[in-house]
Amino acid sequence: MNILIFGPNGSGKGTQGAIVQKKFGIPHIETGVIFRENISGGTELGQKAKGYIDKGELVPDEITVPMILNRLKADDCKTGWLLDGFPRNLVQAEALHDALQKENITLDYAIEIVLDRQTSKNRIMGRRLCVNDNNHPNNIYIDAIKPAEKNGKLVCRVCGGELSARADDQDESAIDKRHNIYYDTQTGTTAGINYFKERVKVIQVDGLPGVNEVSEDLLSKLG
Ligand code: AMP
Repeated sequence: MNILIFGPNGSGKGTQGAIVQKKFGIPHIETGVIFRENISGGTELGQKAKGYIDKGELVPDEITVPMILNRLKADDCKTGWLLDGFPRNLVQAEALHDALQKENITLDYAIEIVLDRQTSKNRIMGRRLCVNDNNHPNNIYIDAIKPAEKNGKLVCRVCGGELSARADDQDESAIDKRHNIYYDTQTGTTAGINYFKERVKVIQVDGLPGVNEVSEDLLSKLG
């Protein structure tokens, strides 16, 4: 099963992605995670990407497109993949579509989590990352995934691991920039979604209800 998942930052895309990943047993490939791993590992790619990420700008397509197309060629992708955070603009959407056609790979679905800009922004600012596992969702503003408390400190609700906040999640101008890109219907992510709407089945879910309601809706539509 090959799936794309779209949704503005803060829409619960990562959380729902983790659920879809479990259902189909496919790797959850998150562009942002790959960049952050490269930054913390001090790689050349990480050094190139960091400045853009800190400002909430897209890492240039010349870096991102080959990185993702190579990742999809790895062995663990042979049985399918869930791609999250890519494509983020029309150019990337076209590049992905062309590359898949060339390799004779079918895209089964695209998922779109629909959420308004202000709600997405509030949710981003509450998001916390678990040091042990990126698929352990925690958010101080969402009841269903509120972190646990241990010795007066907030810890991961799944494994008790330490939590941190991403710098770009606490910076309002970086959030606004990311959302400007997402909601852009001319060349941004929404333009990319519309491009796929003409080519594959796009499953839309409302991101406003709680995590469980959204995942129930999503899983029932995925069949
Ligand atoms: P995310 O974890 O999805 O919020 O991504 C964090 C940051 O990584 C984004 O704000 C961009 O700077 C960069 N990034 C993630 N995905 C892409 C992409 N498809 N193209 C370019 N930059 C990206």
